[in-house]
Amino acid sequence: MARPLHVYVHVPFCARKCPYCHFYNLGHDDGREAVWLDGLAREIALHREAEAFDGARLATLYWGGGTPSLLGPEAFERAADLLLGIAPRSHRLEWTLELNPGDATRDRLRVWRDRGVNRISVGAQSFDAARLEFLGRTHGPETAREAVCAVADAGFEEVSLDLIFDLEVPGVSPAWRRRTWARDLAIAFSLPITHLSLYGLTIESGTAFDARARAGERLTASDAAYAAEYHATCRAARRAGFEHYEVSSFAKPGHRARHNAAYWTGAPYLGLGPAAHSFDGVRRWANVSSLTCWAEALATGGDPRAFVELLTPLQRELETLYLGLRRVEGIESDHVLLGGPAEAVARALVREGMLVERDARLACTERGFLLLDGMLERIADAASASFDKVPGRP
Ligand code: SF4
Repeated sequence: MARPLHVYVHVPFCARKCPYCHFYNLGHDDGREAVWLDGLAREIALHREAEAFDGARLATLYWGGGTPSLLGPEAFERAADLLLGIAPRSHRLEWTLELNPGDATRDRLRVWRDRGVNRISVGAQSFDAARLEFLGRTHGPETAREAVCAVADAGFEEVSLDLIFDLEVPGVSPAWRRRTWARDLAIAFSLPITHLSLYGLTIESGTAFDARARAGERLTASDAAYAAEYHATCRAARRAGFEHYEVSSFAKPGHRARHNAAYWTGAPYLGLGPAAHSFDGVRRWANVSSLTCWAEALATGGDPRAFVELLTPLQRELETLYLGLRRVEGIESDHVLLGGPAEAVARALVREGMLVERDARLACTERGFLLLDGMLERIADAASASFDKVPGRP
């Protein structure tokens, strides 16, 4: 049987840098677009030479960024030709394209749909003018709503929405924050979406928000507000008939994101484009975060990667544990890392209501999802200390 191929493509262009964003991107123009397309063709050829596509079937294709919806029609067609040509397509190919709400024109949507894109991820982030302004977004609340409706009207089967919570908008009260978040959720679930991706605002190093936070400005709310907004989202999703299937993801039954699921289940994936990450089952690597350096390396027979990391057996097991506990399915109760002192930690987490055990699997409760990072740290500390002594260790 053909091996499933999961491909991520980084389109590194944005109209403007959002103050919280740490992804690699730069301004869009025709010259840069041509450099990116040239590099993409060379990178695909390089992987073809290495027989990376032999015996594979394209199962998921994800165009992220950056802002893929900024690509001009010719660049979109050329990139689509290149990417769809790498391997035969699965009859259930999931092809996602990230959309900035302001780019949702009828013509663009028709071209994408006719070409085979079947999943659109709308970067709305909020439906409130003050929240959007705080986030430095270029669109307003109405544009965000209209974009979701335009995507659904254009006939896309899968419509995903991004929302960001835990914002400390200057000069507003906690009551205002609660009210506007509740309104964001009410609007989101009243729209024709099939999937919601939830992001807690994180202050990433090197961003404009990072500089403001270092200067003493408070940009995220309290732990209590974070928890209240997270739980409010879970309740609203349940009421709307969405499954909470991953720590930050909610979907109508049958509409889970298959590309993201590949990441969370430890499947190999290939990243193309500057700053794109890849994983082949034992090695992880990332391309350089520079369009020019990435394209030059590919044009001159150099290596476009910034690093390659061979995972140790412990890292591989920890990754299975991390990724498994992000998902509602959890991990097997007899996972190799739970064979030593970490077993006592896992039992304690069950008693504390963070984990639940059913059908010989351990999975997070809603509270566990909320406190996932701290919980993983506790398990990982105990497991790493005893890894060499764990019976049955690979
Ligand atoms: S549009 Fe998205 S990728 Fe571009 S700067 Fe904003 S958050 Fe980052």
